[in-house]
Amino acid sequence: MTDVLNLIGGARVGEPEIARRNPADPGEVVAVTPSSDASAVDAALTAAVEAQAAWAATPAPARGAILLDAADLLRSRQAEVAADLSREEGKTLAEATGEVRRAVDVLRFFGSLGWRTSGEVLPSALPGTTIFTRHEPLGVAALITPWNFPIAIPAWKLAPALISGNAVVVKPAELTPLSVAHLSDALVEAGLPAGVLNVVHGPGSVIGDALARDHRVAALSFTGSTRVGLGLHRILGERRARVQLEMGGKNAYLILDDADAHAAARVVAASAFGLTGQACTATSRVYCTPGVREAFLGALAKEAESVTMGPVVSEQQLAADVAAIDTARAEGAEFVAGGRPPVGQFLPPTVLTGLGHDSSVVREEIFGPVVAVLGVESYEEGLDRVNDSRYGLTAGICTQNLAAAHHFAAHAQVGVVKVNRPTTGLDLNVPFGGVKDSSSNTFREQGTAALDFYTWSKTVYMGHE
Ligand code: NAD
Repeated sequence: MTDVLNLIGGARVGEPEIARRNPADPGEVVAVTPSSDASAVDAALTAAVEAQAAWAATPAPARGAILLDAADLLRSRQAEVAADLSREEGKTLAEATGEVRRAVDVLRFFGSLGWRTSGEVLPSALPGTTIFTRHEPLGVAALITPWNFPIAIPAWKLAPALISGNAVVVKPAELTPLSVAHLSDALVEAGLPAGVLNVVHGPGSVIGDALARDHRVAALSFTGSTRVGLGLHRILGERRARVQLEMGGKNAYLILDDADAHAAARVVAASAFGLTGQACTATSRVYCTPGVREAFLGALAKEAESVTMGPVVSEQQLAADVAAIDTARAEGAEFVAGGRPPVGQFLPPTVLTGLGHDSSVVREEIFGPVVAVLGVESYEEGLDRVNDSRYGLTAGICTQNLAAAHHFAAHAQVGVVKVNRPTTGLDLNVPFGGVKDSSSNTFREQGTAALDFYTWSKTVYMGHE
Protein backbone atom coordinates (compact mmCIF):
# COMPACT_ATOMS: atom_id res chain seq x y z
CA MET A 1 0.00 0.00 0.00
CA THR A 2 1.38 3.44 -0.94
CA ASP A 3 0.30 6.89 0.10
CA VAL A 4 0.26 9.12 -2.96
CA LEU A 5 0.09 12.76 -1.89
CA ASN A 6 -0.36 16.00 -3.79
CA LEU A 7 2.76 17.73 -5.11
CA ILE A 8 2.46 21.46 -4.48
CA GLY A 9 5.37 23.89 -4.65
CA GLY A 10 7.83 21.00 -4.36
CA ALA A 11 6.22 19.52 -1.21
CA ARG A 12 4.24 16.30 -0.92
CA VAL A 13 1.11 17.36 0.96
CA GLY A 14 -2.45 16.28 1.80
CA GLU A 15 -4.03 13.52 3.88
CA PRO A 16 -4.37 10.07 2.27
CA GLU A 17 -8.09 9.24 2.25
CA ILE A 18 -9.24 7.47 -0.92
CA ALA A 19 -8.10 3.89 -1.59
CA ARG A 20 -7.54 2.52 -5.08
CA ARG A 21 -7.78 -1.28 -5.35
CA ASN A 22 -6.18 -3.68 -7.81
CA PRO A 23 -8.86 -4.55 -10.40
CA ALA A 24 -7.36 -8.03 -10.83
CA ASP A 25 -7.37 -8.59 -7.06
CA PRO A 26 -9.77 -6.16 -5.35
CA GLY A 27 -8.52 -7.23 -1.89
CA GLU A 28 -5.26 -5.37 -2.56
CA VAL A 29 -5.11 -1.61 -1.95
CA VAL A 30 -2.50 -0.18 -4.33
CA ALA A 31 -2.64 3.53 -3.49
CA VAL A 32 -4.32 5.95 -1.08
CA THR A 33 -4.71 9.58 -2.17
CA PRO A 34 -6.03 12.80 -0.70
CA SER A 35 -9.53 13.87 -1.67
CA SER A 36 -8.50 17.47 -2.18
CA ASP A 37 -10.76 20.48 -2.54
CA ALA A 38 -10.49 23.82 -4.33
CA SER A 39 -8.02 25.16 -1.74
CA ALA A 40 -5.40 22.68 -3.02
CA VAL A 41 -5.99 23.94 -6.56
CA ASP A 42 -5.50 27.50 -5.33
CA ALA A 43 -2.22 26.55 -3.62
CA ALA A 44 -0.99 24.65 -6.69
CA LEU A 45 -1.77 27.56 -9.01
CA THR A 46 -0.07 30.03 -6.66
CA ALA A 47 3.06 27.83 -6.69
CA ALA A 48 2.92 27.41 -10.47
CA VAL A 49 2.55 31.14 -11.17
CA GLU A 50 5.47 31.88 -8.83
CA ALA A 51 7.76 29.33 -10.48
CA GLN A 52 6.88 29.92 -14.13
CA ALA A 53 8.87 33.05 -15.03
CA ALA A 54 12.20 31.63 -13.79
CA TRP A 55 11.47 28.36 -15.60
CA ALA A 56 10.71 30.19 -18.85
CA ALA A 57 13.96 32.14 -18.44
CA THR A 58 15.96 28.91 -18.05
CA PRO A 59 17.69 28.13 -21.38
CA ALA A 60 15.66 25.59 -23.35
CA PRO A 61 18.56 23.07 -23.53
CA ALA A 62 18.76 23.16 -19.70
CA ARG A 63 15.02 22.54 -19.46
CA GLY A 64 15.45 19.69 -21.93
CA ALA A 65 18.32 18.19 -19.91
CA ILE A 66 15.95 17.78 -16.95
CA LEU A 67 13.43 15.92 -19.13
CA LEU A 68 16.23 13.71 -20.48
CA ASP A 69 17.51 12.91 -16.97
CA ALA A 70 13.94 12.14 -15.86
CA ALA A 71 13.64 9.77 -18.83
CA ASP A 72 16.78 7.93 -17.70
CA LEU A 73 15.48 7.64 -14.12
CA LEU A 74 12.12 6.32 -15.30
CA ARG A 75 13.85 3.87 -17.65
CA SER A 76 15.99 2.56 -14.78
CA ARG A 77 12.78 1.95 -12.76
CA GLN A 78 10.82 0.54 -15.67
CA ALA A 79 10.05 -2.85 -14.07
CA GLU A 80 8.77 -1.34 -10.82
CA VAL A 81 6.73 1.38 -12.55
CA ALA A 82 5.19 -1.09 -15.00
CA ALA A 83 4.23 -3.44 -12.16
CA ASP A 84 2.53 -0.56 -10.31
CA LEU A 85 0.78 0.60 -13.49
CA SER A 86 -0.51 -2.92 -14.07
CA ARG A 87 -1.68 -3.19 -10.44
CA GLU A 88 -3.63 0.06 -10.49
CA GLU A 89 -5.03 0.01 -14.05
CA GLY A 90 -5.25 -3.70 -14.83
CA LYS A 91 -3.20 -3.78 -18.05
CA THR A 92 -1.14 -6.88 -18.64
CA LEU A 93 2.49 -6.48 -17.61
CA ALA A 94 3.55 -6.49 -21.27
CA GLU A 95 1.11 -3.68 -22.08
CA ALA A 96 2.14 -1.74 -18.96
CA THR A 97 5.83 -2.10 -19.83
CA GLY A 98 5.14 -0.80 -23.32
CA GLU A 99 3.35 2.19 -21.87
CA VAL A 100 6.19 3.05 -19.47
CA ARG A 101 8.62 2.84 -22.39
CA ARG A 102 6.37 5.22 -24.28
CA ALA A 103 6.53 7.73 -21.41
CA VAL A 104 10.36 7.42 -21.38
CA ASP A 105 10.53 8.01 -25.14
CA VAL A 106 8.13 10.97 -24.95
CA LEU A 107 10.39 12.62 -22.34
CA ARG A 108 13.41 11.93 -24.57
CA PHE A 109 11.70 13.31 -27.67
CA PHE A 110 10.62 16.59 -26.05
CA GLY A 111 13.80 16.85 -23.96
CA SER A 112 15.92 16.79 -27.11
CA LEU A 113 13.73 19.55 -28.62
CA GLY A 114 15.37 21.91 -26.15
CA TRP A 115 18.19 22.15 -28.73
CA ARG A 116 15.91 22.89 -31.64
CA THR A 117 15.43 26.43 -32.91
CA SER A 118 11.89 27.65 -32.72
CA GLY A 119 10.28 30.43 -34.69
CA GLU A 120 11.31 31.53 -38.15
CA VAL A 121 13.13 34.39 -39.86
CA LEU A 122 11.10 36.11 -42.56
CA PRO A 123 12.00 38.69 -45.23
CA SER A 124 10.55 42.19 -44.97
CA ALA A 125 9.49 44.61 -47.72
CA LEU A 126 11.06 47.38 -45.65
CA PRO A 127 14.78 48.06 -46.19
CA GLY A 128 17.17 47.26 -43.34
CA THR A 129 14.57 45.20 -41.51
CA THR A 130 14.52 41.60 -40.36
CA ILE A 131 11.36 39.92 -39.17
CA PHE A 132 11.36 36.92 -36.86
CA THR A 133 8.83 35.04 -34.78
CA ARG A 134 9.16 33.90 -31.17
CA HIS A 135 7.17 31.10 -29.58
CA GLU A 136 6.31 32.29 -26.09
CA PRO A 137 5.08 30.03 -23.27
CA LEU A 138 1.47 30.55 -22.22
CA GLY A 139 2.13 30.60 -18.48
CA VAL A 140 0.35 27.94 -16.44
CA ALA A 141 -1.29 24.95 -18.12
CA ALA A 142 -3.79 22.60 -16.43
CA LEU A 143 -3.62 18.97 -17.55
CA ILE A 144 -6.58 16.67 -16.81
CA THR A 145 -5.92 13.02 -17.62
CA PRO A 146 -7.89 9.73 -17.79
CA TRP A 147 -7.11 6.34 -16.26
CA ASN A 148 -6.59 4.30 -19.43
CA PHE A 149 -3.04 5.49 -20.23
CA PRO A 150 -2.08 6.61 -16.73
CA ILE A 151 1.57 7.45 -17.45
CA ALA A 152 1.76 7.98 -21.23
CA ILE A 153 -0.98 10.62 -21.44
CA PRO A 154 0.34 12.73 -18.53
CA ALA A 155 3.81 12.43 -20.12
CA TRP A 156 2.67 13.49 -23.59
CA LYS A 157 0.91 16.53 -22.14
CA LEU A 158 3.47 17.71 -19.61
CA ALA A 159 6.63 17.18 -21.70
CA PRO A 160 5.66 19.67 -24.48
CA ALA A 161 4.25 22.05 -21.84
CA LEU A 162 7.49 22.04 -19.82
CA ILE A 163 9.95 22.23 -22.72
CA SER A 164 8.01 25.28 -23.94
CA GLY A 165 8.58 27.06 -20.60
CA ASN A 166 5.19 26.61 -18.96
CA ALA A 167 4.45 25.54 -15.40
CA VAL A 168 1.74 22.88 -15.02
CA VAL A 169 -0.88 21.56 -12.64
CA VAL A 170 -1.78 17.93 -13.34
CA LYS A 171 -5.07 16.41 -12.22
CA PRO A 172 -4.72 12.61 -12.62
CA ALA A 173 -7.69 10.25 -12.86
CA GLU A 174 -8.86 9.05 -9.45
CA LEU A 175 -8.40 5.39 -10.46
CA THR A 176 -4.69 5.70 -11.38
CA PRO A 177 -2.71 8.01 -9.08
CA LEU A 178 0.42 5.85 -8.74
CA SER A 179 1.70 6.13 -12.31
CA VAL A 180 1.71 9.94 -12.21
CA ALA A 181 3.54 9.75 -8.87
CA HIS A 182 6.35 7.79 -10.56
CA LEU A 183 6.48 10.33 -13.39
CA SER A 184 6.58 13.33 -11.06
CA ASP A 185 9.17 11.63 -8.79
CA ALA A 186 11.47 11.20 -11.80
CA LEU A 187 11.09 14.84 -12.85
CA VAL A 188 11.64 16.17 -9.32
CA GLU A 189 14.70 13.97 -8.83
CA ALA A 190 16.03 15.09 -12.19
CA GLY A 191 16.05 18.66 -10.86
CA LEU A 192 12.76 20.22 -11.96
CA PRO A 193 12.44 23.38 -9.82
CA ALA A 194 9.73 23.40 -7.13
CA GLY A 195 6.38 24.68 -8.37
CA VAL A 196 6.98 24.02 -12.08
CA LEU A 197 5.08 20.73 -11.83
CA ASN A 198 2.21 20.38 -9.37
CA VAL A 199 -0.14 17.42 -8.96
CA VAL A 200 -3.53 17.60 -7.23
CA HIS A 201 -5.56 14.46 -6.46
CA GLY A 202 -9.30 14.48 -5.87
CA PRO A 203 -12.70 14.25 -7.52
CA GLY A 204 -12.76 15.47 -11.13
CA SER A 205 -15.94 17.48 -10.59
CA VAL A 206 -14.17 19.47 -7.83
CA ILE A 207 -10.50 19.70 -8.92
CA GLY A 208 -11.07 19.76 -12.68
CA ASP A 209 -13.85 22.29 -12.37
CA ALA A 210 -11.78 24.59 -10.12
CA LEU A 211 -8.88 24.46 -12.59
CA ALA A 212 -11.14 25.22 -15.54
CA ARG A 213 -12.66 28.29 -13.88
CA ASP A 214 -9.44 29.84 -12.54
CA HIS A 215 -8.13 32.76 -14.60
CA ARG A 216 -4.54 31.85 -13.76
CA VAL A 217 -4.94 28.78 -15.99
CA ALA A 218 -3.99 30.04 -19.45
CA ALA A 219 -4.61 26.71 -21.18
CA LEU A 220 -6.32 23.44 -20.31
CA SER A 221 -5.57 20.14 -22.00
CA PHE A 222 -8.08 17.38 -21.25
CA THR A 223 -8.34 13.75 -22.27
CA GLY A 224 -11.41 11.84 -21.16
CA SER A 225 -15.09 11.37 -21.84
CA THR A 226 -17.04 13.50 -24.29
CA ARG A 227 -19.58 14.44 -21.61
CA VAL A 228 -16.96 15.97 -19.30
CA GLY A 229 -14.96 17.46 -22.18
CA LEU A 230 -17.91 19.34 -23.65
CA GLY A 231 -18.68 20.80 -20.21
CA LEU A 232 -15.10 22.05 -19.94
CA HIS A 233 -15.33 23.52 -23.43
CA ARG A 234 -18.20 25.77 -22.33
CA ILE A 235 -16.32 27.00 -19.24
CA LEU A 236 -13.02 27.66 -21.05
CA GLY A 237 -14.84 29.15 -24.05
CA GLU A 238 -16.61 31.70 -21.85
CA ARG A 239 -13.33 33.02 -20.51
CA ARG A 240 -11.57 32.66 -23.87
CA ALA A 241 -8.79 30.45 -22.50
CA ARG A 242 -7.00 28.02 -24.76
CA VAL A 243 -8.45 24.52 -24.63
CA GLN A 244 -7.55 21.13 -26.09
CA LEU A 245 -9.97 18.23 -25.68
CA GLU A 246 -9.42 14.64 -26.75
CA MET A 247 -12.55 12.65 -25.98
CA GLY A 248 -14.52 9.52 -26.85
CA GLY A 249 -14.62 7.39 -29.97
CA LYS A 250 -16.70 4.77 -31.77
CA ASN A 251 -13.99 3.65 -34.13
CA ALA A 252 -14.89 1.61 -37.20
CA TYR A 253 -13.10 -0.87 -39.45
CA LEU A 254 -14.15 -1.61 -43.03
CA ILE A 255 -13.18 -5.02 -44.48
CA LEU A 256 -13.40 -5.34 -48.27
CA ASP A 257 -13.81 -8.57 -50.25
CA ASP A 258 -10.21 -8.51 -51.51
CA ALA A 259 -8.76 -8.51 -47.97
CA ASP A 260 -7.16 -11.60 -46.44
CA ALA A 261 -9.79 -12.63 -43.84
CA HIS A 262 -7.21 -13.98 -41.37
CA ALA A 263 -4.97 -10.93 -41.56
CA ALA A 264 -8.05 -8.69 -41.16
CA ALA A 265 -9.15 -10.70 -38.10
CA ARG A 266 -5.71 -10.25 -36.50
CA VAL A 267 -5.84 -6.50 -37.11
CA VAL A 268 -9.38 -6.18 -35.70
CA ALA A 269 -8.65 -8.42 -32.68
CA ALA A 270 -5.62 -6.30 -31.79
CA SER A 271 -7.71 -3.13 -32.24
CA ALA A 272 -10.72 -4.37 -30.25
CA PHE A 273 -9.21 -6.48 -27.46
CA GLY A 274 -5.75 -4.97 -26.88
CA LEU A 275 -5.70 -3.02 -23.58
CA THR A 276 -8.99 -4.82 -22.73
CA GLY A 277 -10.71 -2.64 -25.35
CA GLN A 278 -10.18 0.35 -23.06
CA ALA A 279 -8.46 2.56 -25.62
CA CYS A 280 -10.02 5.67 -27.11
CA THR A 281 -8.78 4.35 -30.47
CA ALA A 282 -10.19 0.81 -30.02
CA THR A 283 -12.25 -0.64 -32.86
CA SER A 284 -15.80 -1.35 -31.71
CA ARG A 285 -17.71 -1.69 -35.01
CA VAL A 286 -16.72 -3.54 -38.16
CA TYR A 287 -18.37 -3.46 -41.58
CA CYS A 288 -17.75 -6.32 -44.04
CA THR A 289 -18.65 -6.55 -47.70
CA PRO A 290 -20.52 -9.82 -48.56
CA GLY A 291 -17.66 -11.90 -50.00
CA VAL A 292 -15.44 -11.74 -46.91
CA ARG A 293 -17.98 -11.67 -44.07
CA GLU A 294 -18.25 -15.40 -43.18
CA ALA A 295 -14.52 -16.09 -43.41
CA PHE A 296 -13.74 -12.97 -41.37
CA LEU A 297 -16.22 -13.87 -38.60
CA GLY A 298 -14.75 -17.39 -38.34
CA ALA A 299 -11.22 -16.03 -38.15
CA LEU A 300 -12.17 -13.35 -35.60
CA ALA A 301 -13.85 -15.97 -33.37
CA LYS A 302 -10.56 -17.93 -33.38
CA GLU A 303 -8.53 -14.80 -32.59
CA ALA A 304 -10.87 -14.02 -29.67
CA GLU A 305 -10.19 -17.47 -28.20
CA SER A 306 -6.46 -16.83 -27.96
CA VAL A 307 -6.50 -13.27 -26.61
CA THR A 308 -4.75 -12.43 -23.30
CA MET A 309 -6.46 -9.53 -21.57
CA GLY A 310 -6.29 -7.81 -18.21
CA PRO A 311 -9.40 -7.07 -16.11
CA VAL A 312 -11.85 -4.24 -16.71
CA VAL A 313 -10.63 -1.19 -14.79
CA SER A 314 -13.46 -0.83 -12.24
CA GLU A 315 -16.72 -2.39 -11.07
CA GLN A 316 -18.56 0.60 -12.52
CA GLN A 317 -16.98 0.19 -15.97
CA LEU A 318 -17.64 -3.58 -15.85
CA ALA A 319 -21.32 -2.95 -15.05
CA ALA A 320 -21.54 -0.59 -18.05
CA ASP A 321 -19.88 -3.17 -20.36
CA VAL A 322 -22.23 -5.93 -19.16
CA ALA A 323 -25.26 -3.64 -19.57
CA ALA A 324 -24.24 -2.94 -23.18
CA ILE A 325 -23.89 -6.69 -23.85
CA ASP A 326 -27.31 -7.33 -22.24
CA THR A 327 -28.86 -4.67 -24.47
CA ALA A 328 -27.35 -6.35 -27.51
CA ARG A 329 -28.71 -9.73 -26.36
CA ALA A 330 -32.19 -8.24 -25.89
CA GLU A 331 -31.97 -6.81 -29.42
CA GLY A 332 -31.32 -10.31 -30.79
CA ALA A 333 -27.53 -10.21 -31.23
CA GLU A 334 -25.71 -13.48 -31.93
CA PHE A 335 -22.50 -14.12 -29.99
CA VAL A 336 -19.64 -15.12 -32.27
CA ALA A 337 -17.40 -14.94 -29.18
CA GLY A 338 -18.08 -14.13 -25.52
CA GLY A 339 -21.56 -14.05 -24.01
CA ARG A 340 -20.37 -15.67 -20.80
CA PRO A 341 -20.55 -13.79 -17.48
CA PRO A 342 -17.37 -12.08 -16.21
CA VAL A 343 -15.06 -13.85 -13.77
CA GLY A 344 -14.24 -11.26 -11.12
CA GLN A 345 -13.54 -8.16 -13.21
CA PHE A 346 -12.34 -10.24 -16.19
CA LEU A 347 -14.77 -10.01 -19.13
CA PRO A 348 -14.37 -12.42 -22.08
CA PRO A 349 -13.66 -10.79 -25.45
CA THR A 350 -17.03 -10.38 -27.12
CA VAL A 351 -17.90 -10.42 -30.84
CA LEU A 352 -21.51 -9.62 -31.73
CA THR A 353 -23.34 -9.92 -35.01
CA GLY A 354 -26.97 -9.66 -36.18
CA LEU A 355 -27.41 -6.11 -34.85
CA GLY A 356 -29.10 -3.24 -36.71
CA HIS A 357 -27.15 -0.15 -37.70
CA ASP A 358 -29.09 1.96 -35.18
CA SER A 359 -28.48 -0.32 -32.18
CA SER A 360 -27.03 1.68 -29.28
CA VAL A 361 -24.24 -0.91 -29.09
CA VAL A 362 -23.26 0.07 -32.64
CA ARG A 363 -23.57 3.82 -32.04
CA GLU A 364 -22.41 4.54 -28.46
CA GLU A 365 -18.92 4.16 -27.01
CA ILE A 366 -18.68 1.11 -24.71
CA PHE A 367 -14.98 1.29 -23.74
CA GLY A 368 -14.62 -2.45 -23.21
CA PRO A 369 -13.63 -5.60 -25.17
CA VAL A 370 -16.82 -5.67 -27.25
CA VAL A 371 -17.00 -5.43 -31.04
CA ALA A 372 -20.05 -5.57 -33.35
CA VAL A 373 -19.70 -6.91 -36.92
CA LEU A 374 -22.23 -5.76 -39.52
CA GLY A 375 -22.70 -6.40 -43.23
CA VAL A 376 -22.60 -3.79 -46.02
CA GLU A 377 -23.19 -4.31 -49.72
CA SER A 378 -20.35 -2.18 -51.09
CA TYR A 379 -17.32 -0.02 -50.30
CA GLU A 380 -19.51 3.08 -50.72
CA GLU A 381 -22.09 1.88 -48.22
CA GLY A 382 -19.28 0.92 -45.84
CA LEU A 383 -17.72 4.38 -46.02
CA ASP A 384 -21.13 5.96 -45.33
CA ARG A 385 -21.57 3.74 -42.26
CA VAL A 386 -18.08 4.51 -40.97
CA ASN A 387 -18.85 8.24 -41.22
CA ASP A 388 -22.36 7.95 -39.76
CA SER A 389 -21.23 8.66 -36.18
CA ARG A 390 -21.06 11.61 -33.81
CA TYR A 391 -17.43 10.57 -33.19
CA GLY A 392 -14.39 10.86 -35.45
CA LEU A 393 -11.19 9.65 -33.84
CA THR A 394 -9.78 6.74 -35.88
CA ALA A 395 -10.95 4.39 -38.66
CA GLY A 396 -9.38 1.57 -40.61
CA ILE A 397 -9.77 -0.30 -43.87
CA CYS A 398 -8.47 -3.75 -44.80
CA THR A 399 -7.90 -3.97 -48.54
CA GLN A 400 -5.20 -4.54 -51.16
CA ASN A 401 -6.93 -2.07 -53.47
CA LEU A 402 -4.82 1.09 -53.58
CA ALA A 403 -7.60 3.19 -55.06
CA ALA A 404 -10.02 2.20 -52.29
CA ALA A 405 -7.35 2.79 -49.63
CA HIS A 406 -6.59 6.28 -50.94
CA HIS A 407 -10.27 7.13 -51.33
CA PHE A 408 -10.87 6.02 -47.73
CA ALA A 409 -7.88 8.03 -46.47
CA ALA A 410 -9.33 11.12 -48.14
CA HIS A 411 -12.97 10.66 -47.14
CA ALA A 412 -13.06 9.00 -43.70
CA GLN A 413 -14.14 11.74 -41.26
CA VAL A 414 -11.59 10.94 -38.55
CA GLY A 415 -8.31 12.30 -37.22
CA VAL A 416 -6.33 9.11 -37.89
CA VAL A 417 -6.76 6.59 -40.74
CA LYS A 418 -5.14 3.14 -40.69
CA VAL A 419 -4.87 0.91 -43.76
CA ASN A 420 -4.28 -2.78 -42.88
CA ARG A 421 -3.05 -1.73 -39.42
CA PRO A 422 -4.82 -1.68 -36.01
CA THR A 423 -6.75 1.50 -35.15
CA THR A 424 -4.90 1.49 -31.82
CA GLY A 425 -1.27 2.54 -31.40
CA LEU A 426 0.45 5.58 -32.86
CA ASP A 427 4.09 6.55 -33.10
CA LEU A 428 5.04 9.33 -30.71
CA ASN A 429 6.16 11.71 -33.45
CA VAL A 430 2.87 11.99 -35.34
CA PRO A 431 0.02 14.46 -34.76
CA PHE A 432 -2.82 12.80 -32.83
CA GLY A 433 -6.40 13.94 -32.35
CA GLY A 434 -9.92 13.58 -33.65
CA VAL A 435 -12.78 15.50 -35.23
CA LYS A 436 -16.51 15.86 -34.43
CA ASP A 437 -17.37 14.94 -30.80
CA SER A 438 -14.04 13.14 -30.37
CA SER A 439 -12.04 16.34 -30.11
CA SER A 440 -12.03 20.10 -29.80
CA ASN A 441 -10.21 19.73 -33.16
CA THR A 442 -8.10 22.81 -32.47
CA PHE A 443 -4.58 21.68 -31.63
CA ARG A 444 -3.11 18.20 -32.12
CA GLU A 445 -1.19 16.28 -29.44
CA GLN A 446 2.13 14.45 -29.83
CA GLY A 447 5.10 15.09 -32.08
CA THR A 448 6.23 18.65 -32.72
CA ALA A 449 2.58 19.55 -33.42
CA ALA A 450 2.04 19.36 -29.64
CA LEU A 451 4.19 22.47 -29.13
CA ASP A 452 1.63 24.69 -30.88
CA PHE A 453 -0.87 24.27 -28.06
CA TYR A 454 1.57 25.32 -25.34
CA THR A 455 2.97 28.43 -27.03
CA TRP A 456 1.81 31.62 -28.70
CA SER A 457 3.49 33.19 -31.65
CA LYS A 458 4.89 36.72 -31.52
CA THR A 459 6.11 38.62 -34.62
CA VAL A 460 9.12 40.90 -34.16
CA TYR A 461 10.29 43.63 -36.62
CA MET A 462 13.98 44.38 -36.11
CA GLY A 463 15.18 47.54 -37.89
CA HIS A 464 18.95 47.65 -38.16
CA GLU A 465 19.80 50.60 -40.35
P1 NAD B 1 -13.63 10.99 -17.53
O1 NAD B 1 -14.12 12.06 -18.45
O2 NAD B 1 -14.58 10.43 -16.56
O3 NAD B 1 -12.40 11.53 -16.68
C1 NAD B 1 -11.26 12.10 -17.28
C2 NAD B 1 -10.63 13.08 -16.29
O4 NAD B 1 -11.53 14.17 -16.08
C3 NAD B 1 -10.35 12.48 -14.91
O5 NAD B 1 -9.16 12.99 -14.38
C4 NAD B 1 -11.54 12.98 -14.10
O6 NAD B 1 -11.27 13.05 -12.72
C5 NAD B 1 -11.75 14.35 -14.70
N1 NAD B 1 -13.11 14.89 -14.50
C6 NAD B 1 -14.25 14.23 -14.21
N2 NAD B 1 -15.27 15.09 -14.10
C7 NAD B 1 -14.77 16.33 -14.34
C8 NAD B 1 -15.35 17.63 -14.38
N3 NAD B 1 -16.65 17.84 -14.16
N4 NAD B 1 -14.55 18.68 -14.68
C9 NAD B 1 -13.23 18.48 -14.93
N5 NAD B 1 -12.63 17.27 -14.88
C10 NAD B 1 -13.40 16.20 -14.59
O7 NAD B 1 -12.98 9.87 -18.47
P2 NAD B 1 -12.29 8.49 -18.01
O8 NAD B 1 -13.39 7.58 -17.58
O9 NAD B 1 -11.18 8.75 -17.07
O10 NAD B 1 -11.64 7.99 -19.37
C11 NAD B 1 -12.35 7.31 -20.35
C12 NAD B 1 -12.75 8.23 -21.47
O11 NAD B 1 -11.60 8.89 -21.97
C13 NAD B 1 -13.34 7.51 -22.68
O12 NAD B 1 -14.46 8.20 -23.16
C14 NAD B 1 -12.23 7.53 -23.72
O13 NAD B 1 -12.65 7.47 -25.03
C15 NAD B 1 -11.58 8.84 -23.39
N6 NAD B 1 -10.19 8.86 -23.87
C16 NAD B 1 -9.91 9.60 -24.97
C17 NAD B 1 -8.61 9.63 -25.48
C18 NAD B 1 -8.29 10.46 -26.69
O14 NAD B 1 -7.12 10.74 -26.93
N7 NAD B 1 -9.26 10.87 -27.49
C19 NAD B 1 -7.59 8.91 -24.85
C20 NAD B 1 -7.92 8.15 -23.73
C21 NAD B 1 -9.23 8.15 -23.24
